[in-house]
Amino acid sequence: MEGKVFLVGAGPGDPGLLTVKAAEIIKRADSIIYDRLANREIIELARDDAELVNVGKEPGRHPVPQEEINAILARKALEGKTVVRLKGGDPFVFGRGGEEALFLSGKGIPFEVIPGITSAVAVPAYAGIPVTHREMSFAIHIFTGHGCAQRSKDMDWKTISKLDGTLIFLMGIGNLDKIAENLLACGKPPETPAAIVMEGTTPRQKTVFGRLSDISEKAMSAEIKNPALIAVGDVVELGKVLGWYENELNRKKEGKLFGKRILITGSLSEEGRKNGAAFSPEEISLLKDKGAEVIYCPVLKISPAYHALEELLENMESFDWLIFTSKNGAKSFAGALRKKRFDVRRLKSVRIAATGASTSAMLEECFLYPDLVPKQYASANLLEMLEKQECGGTAAVITSDIGGEELISGLKRAGFSAKKVVAYKNEPDYKKRGRLLRELDRGIDIAVFTSPSTFRYMQTLTGEAFQKIKNARIAAIGPVTKKAVESEGFRVDFVPDEHTYEGLIKEIAKRENWL
Ligand code: SAH
Repeated sequence: MEGKVFLVGAGPGDPGLLTVKAAEIIKRADSIIYDRLANREIIELARDDAELVNVGKEPGRHPVPQEEINAILARKALEGKTVVRLKGGDPFVFGRGGEEALFLSGKGIPFEVIPGITSAVAVPAYAGIPVTHREMSFAIHIFTGHGCAQRSKDMDWKTISKLDGTLIFLMGIGNLDKIAENLLACGKPPETPAAIVMEGTTPRQKTVFGRLSDISEKAMSAEIKNPALIAVGDVVELGKVLGWYENELNRKKEGKLFGKRILITGSLSEEGRKNGAAFSPEEISLLKDKGAEVIYCPVLKISPAYHALEELLENMESFDWLIFTSKNGAKSFAGALRKKRFDVRRLKSVRIAATGASTSAMLEECFLYPDLVPKQYASANLLEMLEKQECGGTAAVITSDIGGEELISGLKRAGFSAKKVVAYKNEPDYKKRGRLLRELDRGIDIAVFTSPSTFRYMQTLTGEAFQKIKNARIAAIGPVTKKAVESEGFRVDFVPDEHTYEGLIKEIAKRENWL
C-alpha cells in the first residue's frame, strides 16, 4: 500500500477553527507529526493507536531540525503510512510547508496540502480587528519579523513604511522594538495605531493596543510572550470597539469553571443518551460555555458475550420471563438469535420485560414487543410492575457481567425464581491508556465519575499515575459511585442532587461553591 503525506493546517489555536477536511484526515492518520502551535485537543482527535510525534520546540528540548523532519515524513510514507504533518495556522504561511512539499515531490512521495486558517487573519479577527475595511485599509501585508534585526537591510523598510494597508508581522515579538524603529525611521507616523495579540483565539488571548511610538514599551510592561503577532494600521482602532472574543472571555472568567480541565470518563453516545446512560453533546457544551476545557475520554468498552445466551435459547421452555435490563443486552440477544438461527416462533408464550424505552426499541427491531416496560427507566420501576404479576415464574435476567444483582434479589423476594444471563461484558478500554496518561500528566482540575466501574477502570488503566487525581476535585454521579471512590482513599467533593448524567453536568455547571 502506498503511503501519503498530508501537510495540514491546524488553524490558529481554537480547535473549532480546524477545517472539516483536516479533522477527517487526522482521525484517519497512522502517524501525526506535529509542532508546538498545534492545539492538543486537535491532536487528540487521532486514532487511539496512531503514532504521535512531537517535533516542535519544548521547554528544555531543541526542536527537531528540518532535514530530520523531512526524513521522518519520507520514511513513514515509504512504510505505507498515512502521515499527517500538522502545523499551526496554514502550512504555507511561514510554516515551511513549501520546503516539505518540495522535498516530498523530489522523492516522488505523494502528498496533499490541506490549508488552515492562518493566524495572520484569524488572530486579528478574534481581537476585533478586520484586516481590511472599506475606506480604511484596502490591503493586507503579511511579514515575518524573524531576523528583522540582523537582516533589517534586506527588508525594504522605506517601501514597507509607504504601504497604506494593514501590516501584520508574525514571529516579530523578539524584534518588536526594531520593527517599530525601522517603520518610524522610514516615515510611518508615530501615531499609527498598532496592537499586539498574544495567544490569539485561545482562552489566554490578550491584546495590547498602542501606537507605533509606544507599542514596544506597552508590550514589555504587559509581559507579552510568543506566540503573538503585531498588527499595524488604522483598522487596529476598530479592535477597541469590536474586541468580541476577549469580552466573552472576561464574562467567562467571572465563573469558577473558567480554564478548568474537566475529565469525563463516562460514555457519550446517542444510544446511551436515550436511557440516561451517557452524556449528550449539549450537556458537555454547558461546561465549555463556562470556559472549561472538557477532556472526554470514555474508559469502558462493551463487548457482547454469547455463551450464556445460547444456553438460554436451548432451554427456552423452562423460562416464563425474559427480562432485559439494557439496550446492549437486547442487542446481544438479537445477535445470539441470528447466530443460532433461532426462529422467534419458538419463543411461544414466554413473556418479555424491558427496563426502558431504548431497550424496548431494540427488541422491537427483532419483532419482539415487550409485555412490560416502565414509563421511567429504572429497574426498581420494572420490579414494581413485575410484582403485580402472578408470582412463581422463572425469569432470565439478561444483563451485563457487572449488573442485574439488585433486580435479581428483588425478583426472588417477589417470589420469582431468577437466573442471571450475562449478555455482554464491561471491560477497561486499553486503547485509551496513552491518552489518559497524557492528560493526567498535563493536570486535571475536576474528575467526573459516573459509576464505580468507570472509576475502577480508570484506575486500572493508569496505574501509579492515577494518584495524580488526588490534586483534582472529584465529582461522583451518586452515593454508590461516591462510596467506591472513597473506599480507595479519595475524597469526593461533589454529588449532584439528581443522580443522572444530565443532573451531574447541569449541577456542575450551575453550582460553583464547591470549587
Ligand atoms: N503557519 C502559521 C504561522 C507560523 S509562524 C500561520 O499560518 O498562522 C509562527 C508565528 O505565527 C508566531 O510567531 C506568531 O507571530 C504567529 N501566531 C501563530 N499562532 C498565533 C496565535 N494563536 N496568536 C498570535 N500569534 C500567533
